Amino acid sequence: MRFCSLSSCSYANSVVVQDGNTCILIDCGLRKRDIKPFLQQAGLSPGDLDAVLVTHCHTDHIYGLKFLCQEKNLPVYSTPGILNELNKLCRFNTPPALTAFGSNAREKIGSLAVTHFRLSHDVETIGFIIGGGDGEQMGFITDTGYFPENCLDAFQSLDYLYIESNHDINMYQKSSKPWHVIRRNLGPTGHLSNEQCGLALQSMELKNCKLVVLGHLSENDNDPAIAVSNARRRLAANIPLTSAPARVPGPWSDRFRQSGEAAHDHRV
Ligand SMILES: [Zn+2]
Ligand SMILES: [Zn+2]
Repeated sequence: MRFCSLSSCSYANSVVVQDGNTCILIDCGLRKRDIKPFLQQAGLSPGDLDAVLVTHCHTDHIYGLKFLCQEKNLPVYSTPGILNELNKLCRFNTPPALTAFGSNAREKIGSLAVTHFRLSHDVETIGFIIGGGDGEQMGFITDTGYFPENCLDAFQSLDYLYIESNHDINMYQKSSKPWHVIRRNLGPTGHLSNEQCGLALQSMELKNCKLVVLGHLSENDNDPAIAVSNARRRLAANIPLTSAPARVPGPWSDRFRQSGEAAHDHRV
């Protein structure tokens, strides 16, 4: 299994996960003009995708979904509540096949097995554990005010982790954002700060993780170097760590393993 962030910030979020012949997208917050070029940079086209998973209905996660579905009518997976909201917001010309996750069920999409869990955000939001045909597992958690304790056991054995490290609390003191936005982002239904991300990493006690990618970094209220060094303090020294770039595709996860690049903390 391997994955690649196409964009990761408060503006647009989208991550590709590939396993054998199965290729899925988690969220599609990309602008219309970016969808094909960004997929192309990852060596893909819309025709290569098999499905889209949606975490929640904020613009930075769903903006481009309608345009992507015009290129290829992909099945879209999420909870019944999120799919209902998505259908209202996207106004699809040709509605895609909307597939609702059953509660607690593992959903098979090709060779991938997807389990979802609830997060704490100001709209209904879910995270994922995605299992590959090779037995590897990836955790995906973004847009949440806190890390859900009931996921700890499942996260300890992950092979890959994509986790939000949204803002630096000290940088908010100089932020130009209105106070009500800052209060929301810092609150229990907002976003994980660098500090919260670090504490979550510490509590997970990841043992055999091959790569941790920090995502959804605020471009105004965070700095990749600060986010990475904060996470590194809470993570075992042998676990490779990087941050996803904001508005451009990053490298595929397997590049780190093949080149050994991730032996050093790294940002791209
Ligand atoms: Zn977001
Ligand atoms: Zn959100």
